[in-house]
Amino acid sequence: MPIFEFQCEECGEIFEELILGNTDEEILCKKCKSPKVKKLISQVAFKSGSKFVSSLGSVCSTCKGGTCSSCH
Ligand SMILES: [Zn+2]
Repeated sequence: MPIFEFQCEECGEIFEELILGNTDEEILCKKCKSPKVKKLISQVAFKSGSKFVSSLGSVCSTCKGGTCSSCH
């Protein structure tokens, strides 16, 4: 799902917006309706990235396989 996170430069509100193809569409602040919003680094990509790292489990020095309790 192409969900992007935006922050309003007027009031500082942070909100998520579902973008369907047309990225030129004007995004308005959910709170004050200001068009002065900036796109933040995708929280969705950040989450899936951290999940990817933890699923590898290769950094554990105890079992080296990601299966012991210290891996989680
Ligand atoms: Zn705002």
